[in-house]
Amino acid sequence: MKALCWVGTNHLNVERVPDPEILNPKDAIVRVILSSVCGSDLHLIDGYVPTMREGDIIGHEFMGEVVEVGPEVKKLKRGDRVVVASVIGCGGCWFCDHGDWSLCDNGNAHASIAEKAYGYSPAGIFGYSHAFGGYAGSHAEYIRVPFADNGMFKIPEGVSDESAVFVSDGFPTGFMAADMCNIQPGDIVAVWGAGGVGQMAIRSAYLLGASRVIAIDRFPERLSMARLHGKAETLNYEEVNILEALKEMTGGRGPDHCIDAVGQEADTPGALHYYDLVKQQLKLETDRPHVLRQAILACRKGGTLSIVGVYGGYIDKLPMGAAMNKALTFRMGQMHAQKYIPRLLEYVQRGEVDPAYLLTHRWPLERGQEGYQMFKHKTDECMRVVFAP
Ligand SMILES: [Zn+2]
Ligand SMILES: [Zn+2]
Repeated sequence: MKALCWVGTNHLNVERVPDPEILNPKDAIVRVILSSVCGSDLHLIDGYVPTMREGDIIGHEFMGEVVEVGPEVKKLKRGDRVVVASVIGCGGCWFCDHGDWSLCDNGNAHASIAEKAYGYSPAGIFGYSHAFGGYAGSHAEYIRVPFADNGMFKIPEGVSDESAVFVSDGFPTGFMAADMCNIQPGDIVAVWGAGGVGQMAIRSAYLLGASRVIAIDRFPERLSMARLHGKAETLNYEEVNILEALKEMTGGRGPDHCIDAVGQEADTPGALHYYDLVKQQLKLETDRPHVLRQAILACRKGGTLSIVGVYGGYIDKLPMGAAMNKALTFRMGQMHAQKYIPRLLEYVQRGEVDPAYLLTHRWPLERGQEGYQMFKHKTDECMRVVFAP
């Protein structure tokens, strides 16, 4: 089959690779219909996530058609149209039992690599480096789905492929970002990053009771999407002082909850950006935490910082004193897709949220390298490139 493979930093190639096979009785094989790029893929492509190997197939947000199931797959069958959770959960461990699917003890086939870096291993993720299981990703014609009864969800009638694909990863990530804030009616939520996940976090914050949502980015087209589809107020960080603007917009108190939907490759105007960039290039610091620093300062006293933008390793100059003395609550994590997907499919089916607008470019796999370059540099008003293998 054809697959989009990582061959080195900033270098992808479409290659012929062997078709996936059922390896365990709980596996299924899915023919990929649509597979989206995700902001977190950029960290792999840019070389900030170690344990990538030449030939790894990337991609973790996808939907498709079941073409084969192992003997212990009971809920779904050949021919079903499914959306697949990007994290791999066994469904039987203590964490899966508690709904914390991205922390599954058995979903990472290479747990020992992650244990060295993190103490304990999080779950595996499709196409997301060997520290996260070394699973083949979804930018391919076919993919093996382990623990298929937990990870695959039948797409209801009336929900299009273009809407369903984002229920795999982007929508649940944005929803969990809002869910972690424990939003009370009337709360004001600020969201850093108006990419796919940020857009979904905006919508989700309203679904969960926020009265106002303020989106922060620097790309005018992303901010206008946040206004149009998300009913958010918007701030461009290249044009205004974010701390002052947020203070003014919230009557001097600050947003109740701050969502970081950017993560480790954040940009900011000013000298600190170059400090972090240089340290990151020299591998003295793995992540550029501008959004975290700003959100800690911007958040109201006693508020929540909810982090779904991905961080990989170590950061500098985190204003911990501000966080502690302002009594902030920190919540974070890779999302627990299996917990959220059924509820999100209902929102989409009822027409309350339609994530299909995130799809700005639909391309064949052969344009993978070009697609990721465009997504990375956000040219041609690109929000999400979706490959149709
Ligand atoms: Zn993702
Ligand atoms: Zn588990």
